[in-house]
Amino acid sequence: MKKLIYLDNAATTKTAPQVVEAMIPYFTEHFGNPSSVYSLAAESRKAVTEARETIAKALGAATEEIYFTAGGSEADNWALKAAAESYSSKGKHIITTKIEHHAILHTCEWLEKKGFEVTYLNVDENGVVKLEELRRAVRPDTILISVMYANNEIGTLQPIREIGELARERGILFHTDAVQAFGHVPIQVEELHIDMLSASGHKLNGPKGIGFLYIRKGLKLRSLIHGGAQERKRRAGTENVPGIVGFGKAVERAFASMEERTSQERELRDYLIDRVLKEIPYTRLNGHRTSRLPNNANFSFQFIEGESLLIMLDMEGICGSSGSACTSGSLDPSHVLLAVGLPHEIAHGSLRLTLNEEITREDLDFVVEQLKRIVEHLRSMSPLYEDFMRRR
Ligand SMILES: *Cc1c(COP(=O)(O)O)cnc(C)c1O
Repeated sequence: MKKLIYLDNAATTKTAPQVVEAMIPYFTEHFGNPSSVYSLAAESRKAVTEARETIAKALGAATEEIYFTAGGSEADNWALKAAAESYSSKGKHIITTKIEHHAILHTCEWLEKKGFEVTYLNVDENGVVKLEELRRAVRPDTILISVMYANNEIGTLQPIREIGELARERGILFHTDAVQAFGHVPIQVEELHIDMLSASGHKLNGPKGIGFLYIRKGLKLRSLIHGGAQERKRRAGTENVPGIVGFGKAVERAFASMEERTSQERELRDYLIDRVLKEIPYTRLNGHRTSRLPNNANFSFQFIEGESLLIMLDMEGICGSSGSACTSGSLDPSHVLLAVGLPHEIAHGSLRLTLNEEITREDLDFVVEQLKRIVEHLRSMSPLYEDFMRRR
């Protein structure tokens, strides 16, 4: 059997064995409901508290500022909808960017139908928000700025500190979708003036279906789900104890190894980028060359279809992505690649490869060899390429 080379860690990551191991007792002997009074329940309660402490510490936040949700999408929805509603007496204008995850963009579209006005900021050719444009977009009735920490497709990191300072100066709430960044780059919410932050377990070797929203103390934000008194009465429902425990373990693990792991990823990422750009003609790198997630590479190969490339890579045991997992299956080119200014036909020939700590240089050598072969093969069948070569 072929070795599987998994290069789609922006879509999801493998649950770490230590994470699974930590979770199992909370399905078996420690199955109690944290809200009950007997000592069996105290075990669950204690585990949830410990995970919350681990996560809060990682962000430089207080434990009571962490609210568990069923993932990143839920945290994004909560932050935007609740902030919009809770602060609507002050104004109805929201600022975000054109390159957000659909959990933000589709929530904004929904808010527009509810009477809110949304400004979608442009980004430059590297996918970075322009601070001058943000400054100009701020109005007296702006209540919320939501800008992602790092982009899930092209990996570009945003000037979060500057955005946080600007928002704080103007008295505007600042939310960041840090689902891709949390556990991969250091984040301190106080220093960066972040009011709300979304994260998700399965993007850092934790379980799926668990996430959190950080809500700065003192912020008046309505409850997401009404019911019991869980999560300080803001998000009702019996806690996903095994998920929370697994998330806590994943965070512990990710932060303990962050420096070493990400410097290794960065080195291999750059090795991959250098070889692909050097050895495959008519190729570009998408996203910022250096200010990007340590494990993200995103290329556009002219004259080919990303979908065909993915299928042929899969036949070699290589998992990649042509955009975000949410856009695959549709033929629309990625909204992120269009926002950085790529024409449709080039955006279509894109490939995202996202590394993890298990990937080796030998794996990448194999990937580059396969990419060279497949891209050449696909181009040999392209009338556009033939035409281009003839005219050259
Ligand atoms: C994966 C992702 C989400 C959604 O998180 P889920 O836990 O899968 O709901 C939101 N935003 C970004 C940037 C993501 O990468």
